Amino acid sequence: MPTSTVSLEPRLGGLRGRRVAVASVEGVGDYDAESTAAALAEQGVKASAVRAPMKDLPPEAALGDLFGRPAPTVRTTADLVAFPPGFVKLPKDGFELLAAAPSPHGWRLQKALEKMLRAAQVNVVGAEVTDFRRESDRLQAALTAAGELAADSFVLASGRFIGGGLVKSRLVREPLLDLAVYYQGETIEAAYPRLRHLEYLDPAPAFRTGLLTDRELRPVDAAGAPAFANLRAAGSVLGGYDYAGGGCGFGLPLLTGRLAGRLAAGMEGG
Ligand SMILES: Cc1cc2nc3c(=O)[nH]c(=O)nc-3n(C[C@H](O)[C@H](O)[C@H](O)COP(=O)(O)OP(=O)(O)OC[C@H]3O[C@@H](n4cnc5c(N)ncnc54)[C@H](O)[C@@H]3O)c2cc1C
Repeated sequence: MPTSTVSLEPRLGGLRGRRVAVASVEGVGDYDAESTAAALAEQGVKASAVRAPMKDLPPEAALGDLFGRPAPTVRTTADLVAFPPGFVKLPKDGFELLAAAPSPHGWRLQKALEKMLRAAQVNVVGAEVTDFRRESDRLQAALTAAGELAADSFVLASGRFIGGGLVKSRLVREPLLDLAVYYQGETIEAAYPRLRHLEYLDPAPAFRTGLLTDRELRPVDAAGAPAFANLRAAGSVLGGYDYAGGGCGFGLPLLTGRLAGRLAAGMEGG
């Protein structure tokens, strides 16, 4: 992971009684320094908005247009300067405000991951997989409009309903390989008589469906055997976990993504 490019936000307690200039970048529609300063003032911080001129912003700039730019100079006698999220090279007395979406923290993580992929010489292909070439119990290649992607091992990380990894009509199904979908340990076909009554009251059970795997993260068929010898699944396409109760939607995708990648690459112990 990259090292931090900005100072950490001081805790609010550390701001009380101090003079804080909230940098106001003109023309950025989704950032309001005045309201931020007023909210800080309500908490006992001596905060006021101060202009931070920036010349080269596009017309109708948004917060995302600031991401990765050096922080502008703010002329102030305040003790600290609060900057909108996303700038780099903050001055010593500067700190970054927290972000709602679009979040620079997610953007930085994305950039860091892209950098790691480049360093590892990973070939990233942006294309929709429409099918697979198969031979008996093994997948040979993913088929895309950009051509065939042949590999020894595959990891299916196609997400849930928004990503398109699962599709809900009457039953939930996995559209690419028609893999078995489970609900609480039962195949979706077996669970359906119960599930349709539950769904009538509340749509949540449909969101708890997904693929089940063996210990090596190979999705299993309706009889519980690996559907393909060289296919693994990771992320939210999997069922059998409580997305909301886990406290973090990314926990399981991160963990299983790492494990499935290591297993697919033949690395010891996953
Ligand atoms: C509105 C919203 C807000 C959320 N907020 C949070 C949050 O604040 N914190 C948190 O921890 N979690 C959050 N989550 C949950 C989090 O986004 C998911 O848990 C996580 O993205 C799942 O990761 P994934 O890699 O399994 O699937 P996805 O992130 O869904 O990735 C699947 C990818 O596979 C691609 N794909 C699917 N089919 C194909 C195909 N045939 N060919 C090529 N590509 C394909 C999709 O386009 C997609 O890019 C949120 C989810 C939503 C919907």
